[in-house]
Amino acid sequence: MSTRTINGVTLALLKGNIVEVQADAIVNAANSGLRGGGGVDGAIHRAGGPTIMEECRKIGGCPTGSAVATSAGKLQARYIFHAVGPIYSGTGEDAQLLASAYQSCLDLAEHHRVQSIAFPSLSTGVYGYPLDEAAPIALRTIIQHIQKPTSLQQVTVVLFGDEAFQAFENALEI
Ligand code: ADP
Repeated sequence: MSTRTINGVTLALLKGNIVEVQADAIVNAANSGLRGGGGVDGAIHRAGGPTIMEECRKIGGCPTGSAVATSAGKLQARYIFHAVGPIYSGTGEDAQLLASAYQSCLDLAEHHRVQSIAFPSLSTGVYGYPLDEAAPIALRTIIQHIQKPTSLQQVTVVLFGDEAFQAFENALEI
């Protein structure tokens, strides 16, 4: 684990499984149909039970670069924020959409007065975003947000495996 404090807010990088992390809001790496999938999405729906998917079905979908909130079912969290990152295309749009997906979750956190939030590394699994490109975008968006007045006290980025953890550690040092 690696932590730093910015404007009184703790930013932590943690190696592990996001469903085992204690936070008011857990961010899901969702798809735009909110239909469920593998990776983080599969893990959250398995651990949280069917009520999360029922809420997703009612919402119906979410555009790329945005996020929607549901309750967290059997998970300890108050909310799941389902964020839709871009499918990596190698064009200039990727970075803006990835930053926007993180920012949408941070905006939901303020709206719901959330004190702690856990993010996975959005878009870097099935969606193919290279970790070394995604990590600085994720951290820059989070750090710029917590430099302003916020309800957040703790932001944790949960990295699944050494490669992801190292990419975020490297980006944090810049
Ligand atoms: P996307 O479709 O947005 O790429 P994925 O769920 O496929 O989403 O992967 C996003 C990132 O989350 C990848 O780096 C993947 O290794 C990681 N990941 C997969 N399962 C978990 C989990 N249970 N907890 C935290 N991170 C996970």
